[in-house]
Amino acid sequence: MITDHGVYKHLAQKNASKIVLLVMDGLGGLPMHVNGLTELETANTPNLDRMAREGTNGRSLPIRPGVTPGSGPAHLSMFSYDPVRYDIGRGVLEALGIGFDLGPDDLAARGNFATVDENGLVTDRRAGRISTEECVRLCEKLQANTSLADEGYEIFIEPVKEHRFVLVIRGEGLGGELTETDPLVTGKAPLPVEDESGTAEGAHTAALVNKWVAQARAVLADEPRANSLNLRGLAKDPGLPQFTDIYQMRAAAIAVYPMYKGVAQLVGMDVIDFEGDRPKHEIAALSRVWEDYDFFFIHIKKTDSYGEDGNFDAKVHEIEAVDQIIPDLLALDPTVVIVTGDHSTPAKLRSHSYHPVPTLFWGEDVMPDNVSAFGERASETGAMGVFHATGMIPWALGYAGRLARFGA
Ligand code: ZN
Repeated sequence: MITDHGVYKHLAQKNASKIVLLVMDGLGGLPMHVNGLTELETANTPNLDRMAREGTNGRSLPIRPGVTPGSGPAHLSMFSYDPVRYDIGRGVLEALGIGFDLGPDDLAARGNFATVDENGLVTDRRAGRISTEECVRLCEKLQANTSLADEGYEIFIEPVKEHRFVLVIRGEGLGGELTETDPLVTGKAPLPVEDESGTAEGAHTAALVNKWVAQARAVLADEPRANSLNLRGLAKDPGLPQFTDIYQMRAAAIAVYPMYKGVAQLVGMDVIDFEGDRPKHEIAALSRVWEDYDFFFIHIKKTDSYGEDGNFDAKVHEIEAVDQIIPDLLALDPTVVIVTGDHSTPAKLRSHSYHPVPTLFWGEDVMPDNVSAFGERASETGAMGVFHATGMIPWALGYAGRLARFGA
């Protein structure tokens, strides 16, 4: 069952409860060999096991059966937005993630500096992963030497990290469904941006973007490594209904990586600034803002990164590091805690996967089931069964007493 906001917007009520959504990115895993254990089953997690024992368990389905999610849509789903209905461009997430104040007339793209050979064929899609300082210099060079002012548009070129940057084009009449320039493999030429919407707005926007790309590549031509670039995920802010309005909760996001801050901001959460990048730093940030919010999203990235690296042991250790912050989390006296992942990233597959994700709900009014540990197979026997990830927030609201009775 996929959540529809209508009834919840009608029933949501304020109270003094505190809800925590703790997300280990790519949490779900697979055994590396027959009869083996998964990463989560291998990890020594006494605190999470206790929460599973005291709580109710199941496995969440991020998108649709058998569909492998990207992290953006998988997060929207956990925030209760059907990711198929609300399809958001990566450029928008990237722009929000670096704190860019994206307006309703802005078109955003994720940019990658790249290396091309003398025939214009891509030899390195990441320009040798240039340093972030180098990226800053290149963005300044592009900002100073490219322009769409004669077409009546403003442009912003902002560095992200290493070879990645954000392009924003600001002005009226932008839109369409735009394709990407990245050929996704080396040995091929970059592609032109095309519009697939068939609208005049889309055709105009594609021509405008292609004009900028041609200028930018000319400006970069004398660079030793980043002598070209590609654009991906060209899109505008879709103007999502706000989480904070639907659920009547002040919501805070505690995350290290830009895209997760971006998606949280898109639904109306406040992004909390803090020092450090480990789970213990995130829990310290949580403690600091505990009194100011009702809902807290905490994002742990490295579980996914190690899964994608195929590094089973490192993923196990990261899960254990998260287990160690649980006592500090529970010491804050949360009303309801959800522990989950946005999708599975089994080290065995070295990629995201479609497997449903172990999920536990913990709180005073949660009916405990017979599950005694937090893990893939343990959660299979949990009372929640397999449920759509858009149901997580509604269940938590119910457990926290934040939904009024429906009818007399
Ligand atoms: Zn993810």
